Amino acid sequence: MNADLERLIELEKVDREAARLTEEVATLPKRVAAIEAKLAEHKAAVEKAKAQIKSNEAGRRQLETDIKGFQEKIAKYRSQSSSVKTNDEYRALMHEVEFAEKQISGCEDKILELMISLENEEKALKRAEAELKTEAADVEKEKAEAHVRTAEDEKLLAGLKEKRAGLRSGVEDSALAHYDRVIRQRKSAISEAREQKCMACFVMLRPQTWQELRTNEHIVTCSSCGRILYFDPASEVQPPESGKETPKKKARARTADAEVETEPETTPAP
Ligand SMILES: [Zn+2]
Repeated sequence: MNADLERLIELEKVDREAARLTEEVATLPKRVAAIEAKLAEHKAAVEKAKAQIKSNEAGRRQLETDIKGFQEKIAKYRSQSSSVKTNDEYRALMHEVEFAEKQISGCEDKILELMISLENEEKALKRAEAELKTEAADVEKEKAEAHVRTAEDEKLLAGLKEKRAGLRSGVEDSALAHYDRVIRQRKSAISEAREQKCMACFVMLRPQTWQELRTNEHIVTCSSCGRILYFDPASEVQPPESGKETPKKKARARTADAEVETEPETTPAP
């Protein structure tokens, strides 16, 4: 195979792998950010559960203060009741006492309700905290993995960069320029040709181009997509009956060898 063609095929593999690694390195921070956003959600859930418990406690304290206020009022009404002059005044005071007692009872009901929901709120907090703990451990693990992967990718990329430079320095300038132009435009610059077709754009090649290409001895480009073409004998479809192609080729090779070997046979027999 043509040495430049061989290097260009290898160069494209290197370029492709480098592109894949570069993309992976670029996506890893995004993955970490997504994991961290999920962690933030769990943190927010814990904070929300804590805030709910706090407001529950504040609510109960307020109700207890209210009860105290009503109890003081009741005590005041009762002490006033001993010095009232009329029955109406007395009844009015007792009515106030009754009202305050009802208020106290209402407050006590509400306190009980809050105590019951406190149990659920505490359970929810415990659950949220457990989830946060698990998530935090996962995040640390995934972050560490992402860092390791990034470091590995960067090391591989450095190796590929070196290999790439070596390959490029060995390729003839105009072929390399063509390669660069095509890969910039099409993301790939090399294509296999099979059954007289460019396997990238599937355009049929002229018979003469096809014949030239099959030797792999020249840089042949696709007239349609511009990719540099190569021929792989291994992927050629063999007709089931007539396996003529291979024996003929072998025969040709043998003839060439024979030509070289015939030379010493010139000595005539004595
Ligand atoms: Zn093509």
